[in-house]
Amino acid sequence: MYDLIIVGAGPAGLTAALYAGRARLKTLVLEKTGIGGRILMSESIENFPGFPEGIATCDLIKRMEEQVRNLDIKIELEEVLELDGRAKSVKTHAKTYAAESIIIATGARPRKLGVPGEDKLVGKGVSYCATCDGPLYKEKNVVVVGGGDAVAEEALYLTRFAKRVNIIHRRNDLRASAILQERLKENKKIYFVLSNVVTEIIGSKKVESIKIKDVNTSGEQIIACDGVFIYIGYEPDTGFVKNKLKLDEKGFIITDQDLATCEEGIFACGDCRKKSLYQVITACGDGAVASDSAYKYISKATT
Ligand code: NAP
Repeated sequence: MYDLIIVGAGPAGLTAALYAGRARLKTLVLEKTGIGGRILMSESIENFPGFPEGIATCDLIKRMEEQVRNLDIKIELEEVLELDGRAKSVKTHAKTYAAESIIIATGARPRKLGVPGEDKLVGKGVSYCATCDGPLYKEKNVVVVGGGDAVAEEALYLTRFAKRVNIIHRRNDLRASAILQERLKENKKIYFVLSNVVTEIIGSKKVESIKIKDVNTSGEQIIACDGVFIYIGYEPDTGFVKNKLKLDEKGFIITDQDLATCEEGIFACGDCRKKSLYQVITACGDGAVASDSAYKYISKATT
């Protein structure tokens, strides 16, 4: 029996674990894939306070993990399949773990375009991670789909390798932050194809081209390319709490200001919950609040 179980070891879960460790809660962290979460899909981060030159995301995560491990917190690589809110327990392939309180910090995974050719060509030119696959596209032509911060950062990263990077976006304006848009416009390898949607990814054994459609004229064209990087947002990883906690229509967990969910003693933090700003720094802030709320809940329940 633990005081606290934290599901997910990205920035939110690791910060929750840090605060739990300092509060001397007997804590178990369960992580499905690898410590760090989706932040590791970007090479570096420039808007985390305290690092004026930016910091490599793997270094930031290494530091967060070290800080947690120094407090003797146990981190296990096990996927949580089920949550029992009343019993405050979670089930993995191997075991059922119980605690006084649970924090969900499972983050989000890349959203798919859902067009023909996408699933077939994943790993054969279709990618959701420029940091992982960018170096494979030296002197090649790639397209990057989307219009947010992720597209801007990853398109800039890809220019280190690729000959040409086409940004395909469904509207006429990007939603990426102004500083990133300035850098995109200054970069000679970056081209914009705006007000267009990708309707098909074409290739037999690997990506050869994409078909796009102009949203104003419905005119179609084919763009030859070697790689397609997709950054059209994220979906919360909350399937295992569906029907157990209150979610919004997109699957984000609804919390109150103390990050409590609808189930007493269960809290949620980071990208898996509904909120207005999805950043590493807000994920960390969430982790601290959720941990403090769990601590108060456990203290009340045990006195
Ligand atoms: P995002 O900001 O939600 O932007 C997604 C983009 O994809 C939007 O431009 C959207 O178009 C487009 N899109 C959505 N569905 C589409 C579809 N089916 N077909 C074509 N285009 C589609 O997502 P993001 O850039 O992945 O970023 C996610 C969150 O992480 C954001 O809050 C972002 O600020 C944050 N982030 C932070 C950092 C950082 O702190 N350094 C870095 C990267 C991302 P519309 O504009 O038309 O809606």
